[in-house]
Amino acid sequence: MARTGKEFLQGLKDDREIWVGSERVRDVAAHPAFAGAARSVAALFDLQHEAADVCLMPDPETGELINVSHIIPRSREDLVRRHACLERIAEYSVGIMGRTPDYLNATVAGFAGRADEWSINGNERGAANLVAFHKEVARRDLSLTHTIVQPTIDKTRGDVPAAGDEVALHKVEDTARGIVVRGARILATLAPFSDELFVYPGAPLAAGTDAYALAFSIPMATPGLKFLCRDSYSSAGNAFDHPLSSRFDEQDAFVIFDDVEVPRERVFIDANLPVYNTVMTTGWQPNIMQQTSIRAQIKLEFAWGVATRMAEAINAASGAGAEMLGEIWSYAEMTRAGVHSAEQGAYEWGNGVWFPDGRPFRALRPLLPLWFPRVNEIIRLLGSHNLLAAPTSAQLADPSLRPLIDRFLRGAKDVTAEQRARIFRLAWDFVGSALASRGEQYERFYLASSGRAFIRAQTFASPDRARRLIDRFLSEELGPGA
Ligand SMILES: Cc1cc2nc3c(=O)[nH]c(=O)nc-3n(C[C@H](O)[C@H](O)[C@H](O)COP(=O)(O)OP(=O)(O)OC[C@H]3O[C@@H](n4cnc5c(N)ncnc54)[C@H](O)[C@@H]3O)c2cc1C
Repeated sequence: MARTGKEFLQGLKDDREIWVGSERVRDVAAHPAFAGAARSVAALFDLQHEAADVCLMPDPETGELINVSHIIPRSREDLVRRHACLERIAEYSVGIMGRTPDYLNATVAGFAGRADEWSINGNERGAANLVAFHKEVARRDLSLTHTIVQPTIDKTRGDVPAAGDEVALHKVEDTARGIVVRGARILATLAPFSDELFVYPGAPLAAGTDAYALAFSIPMATPGLKFLCRDSYSSAGNAFDHPLSSRFDEQDAFVIFDDVEVPRERVFIDANLPVYNTVMTTGWQPNIMQQTSIRAQIKLEFAWGVATRMAEAINAASGAGAEMLGEIWSYAEMTRAGVHSAEQGAYEWGNGVWFPDGRPFRALRPLLPLWFPRVNEIIRLLGSHNLLAAPTSAQLADPSLRPLIDRFLRGAKDVTAEQRARIFRLAWDFVGSALASRGEQYERFYLASSGRAFIRAQTFASPDRARRLIDRFLSEELGPGA
């Protein structure tokens, strides 16, 4: 049953081992590092009720209302329906929170729909556990965090562990209840605001490293599970001064599994290399890229809006300003067009499950990590020193300062000093604050670097049409006049 924000916040009160700065946090929702984002995630749980026509649907078996992001898409119409829900969720944080619960809802639904890929090589029980997990996540409306990447110790050793690697997450033993796992993984975004940690495959593993071939989900408070959060970029204070960083720091955490027991019913891959190396290679990317690309589109549209308002406030939206603004608009529009094209080209990928066409997403995936830093650069160029000359709410409220600010810090035409301060503070929180810097790092790496994604695009591109276009010239007769 779809939860409310209050119910979500209640669920965060447990013995989870969350570390930030120098302390172990006892009450996530009350801690200054997390309170702002906790309220925002709670607001998303409330939003699904406020926008129930777009965000909720009856569970196909029980009829209870669940979030639309749990849908297993079985037609193009299902994808269009999911689009509307994902869009509404992304609009709330204007795309700044990348790993709102709908990200993993869509991931789990995609995996459960392709349970046929999980039930190979004797893994029927793991696949059945996964299907049951999908239903449980939907019906209990759980918020999940995830880790799919192995920690980096020495880059020359490659992306995946060799047999005997003690750092990467691996299975240690079987127990009466399940399995014990040990090691570490990166990088659990949304961890403090999650109910469970979902571990699933990343880069394909080499032969002989079966112990590392794992997938499972466990509650955040499972004994032995430790989350080391990065520094908080959540700004204390009011939403006028820090409109984004007071609300949307979703956090990222390094995860240590200090001998953690995973119950058998939550093990989806148990040291099974063929399954591990299969399930991420087909429909996972187009399925999840629908969510991430809709979010990226909204963030780019917001960036264009902020940049335009900022340029207009100082009358800099023409000439070179217009050129740069048009560049941001073009990135947003190309992202919208890519999502549209992928959805229009959707087809059945197997087992009756529909995912979008992967090609537009394979092109967007390496480009978006290049576009976002450029967008930030444009906003900094357009904003110049003005980004750093925007008074706080306290300065605006000061009776001796206010008349002077109104006189010397107003904008062009009829833009008041207060409006100008709001616009430039919003723009700086978007591109210049600590949270903005983390956001740029997120866009560069959250689905692997641009370089890796270009290699993937080239690897999977169909050469047929391009070959046909050049073959005509390569097969021409030799000699003059031929
Ligand atoms: C803010 C943030 C949040 C994240 N959240 C999560 C999360 O919630 N869950 C999760 O599982 N992971 C998460 N990640 C981790 C993310 O999945 C990895 O960072 C990502 O897969 C890149 O891997 P890497 O960090 O090892 O970098 P690499 O891919 O090794 O890239 C490092 C550098 O090496 C270059 N490079 C390396 N190999 C190649 C190659 N073959 N071709 C071309 N260039 C190459 C890259 O261009 C880049 O400059 C997050 C990361 C960040 C930064």
